Amino acid sequence: MTPWLPRFLAVSTAFVLLATTTAFAQAHPYPSTDVRDIYTRLLTQIEKIPAFDHHAHPGFPDDPDVDAMAAPPGSSPLRERDTNPELVAAAKALFQYPYDDLSPEHAKWLVNKKADLKRQQGIAYFSNLLDKLNIEQGVANRAMMADYLDPKRFVWVFFADSFMWPFDNKQQTARNVDQGVYIPLQEKMLHRWMAQENVKQLPASFADYLTFITRVLEDNQKNKGAIAMKFEVAYFRTTKFGDPSRELAEAIYDRYISGGIPPEQDYRTFQDYIFRYLVREGGRLHLPIHIHSAVGIGDYFNISESNVMNLENILRDPRYSSTVFVLIHGGYPLEREAIWLASVKNVYMDSSLMEVVMYPAAFKDSLRQWLETFPDKITFGTDAFPYNDALGAEESYWLGVQTARMGLAAALAEMVASGEITEPKALEMAHAYLHDTAVSLYPGKVH
Ligand SMILES: [Zn+2]
Repeated sequence: MTPWLPRFLAVSTAFVLLATTTAFAQAHPYPSTDVRDIYTRLLTQIEKIPAFDHHAHPGFPDDPDVDAMAAPPGSSPLRERDTNPELVAAAKALFQYPYDDLSPEHAKWLVNKKADLKRQQGIAYFSNLLDKLNIEQGVANRAMMADYLDPKRFVWVFFADSFMWPFDNKQQTARNVDQGVYIPLQEKMLHRWMAQENVKQLPASFADYLTFITRVLEDNQKNKGAIAMKFEVAYFRTTKFGDPSRELAEAIYDRYISGGIPPEQDYRTFQDYIFRYLVREGGRLHLPIHIHSAVGIGDYFNISESNVMNLENILRDPRYSSTVFVLIHGGYPLEREAIWLASVKNVYMDSSLMEVVMYPAAFKDSLRQWLETFPDKITFGTDAFPYNDALGAEESYWLGVQTARMGLAAALAEMVASGEITEPKALEMAHAYLHDTAVSLYPGKVH
């Protein structure tokens, strides 16, 4: 204890000196009365920052490749329903929409307008949209890349879940109607990877199966420009991953690869091993791991089994210290706990979906807590997705960007007005969140 004492005294003396010379020496619980002026000043600056969108699914509603799974109908939270009046504001801002509602006949105008622009602009359609929203570059998290997305503006993040479902999936598919849709799509994805690598049937040996997985990862990264791999595994099973031996996983593979339905526990054990193999490969190849870590849609999404804290044993495992993890959707609605997972040096948070599900007032509070905890580990994303013809990726981009910039300016304004940070520091944090931190994870690949 003793050696620390002189240093502590020195620090507290400096603190007293600082307190007499600057207004920012001590934070206070109530913001100063000019918080709205600070907000306005910051928002003007924040709107000028070109953003990097760390998570989105750009595409047209009729494109099945926007995701490796399909969204079940219903269950959308209030703001994501097509009754949201903000969508009219989005249509006006993006397409000069002339009406004040989205009645079916008016919505038809919007659908036609988008179709016209798509025809006229071709590959520039989505790039022009990014220009309007001041997004410099964005992730396209898609089953496969689309030829209508300009690779200069959109970088690919592919889905890696399907390697965990190589066996007879009858039992998996029969669990409920959602799995009945999801699991066949995983089988389809696995077959697409096989076709990509000219693999006619799955290898007879486990060693060759692992080699096949690595070939897909390397091919996607080196030849197809992928910058990361994404897991939406929370939709299909628990995110609590065990740590089985290779021998155990191999025995299960040998037993079921040529037929037979694996019992639930055996399938899970095998998947636990494959997930960890992918995490390890992600470290070796410098291919960051993106994981869906929030609630999900549909009647059968199991919230407790997909609790973001389930991932803690993976994130804090020293064997994976060279793998970069991005917790997509920030563990929402447990984002206040999840931010503490970013204390691990290789773990980052992404706020996509949060700023679409939450209105600016609520998002501001969540983001402020993140900014006050690990401001250098948080990144911006929209989770833009083509829900339908009227609520397209275009409108969800708009909603995400607007809410994020407003929430960010409001959170930072409160921090400035409460004496926590200066305005220059606030703008530094804004740059980090909207652009710099995410870009730093993919050196030489994005900007
Ligand atoms: Zn998403």
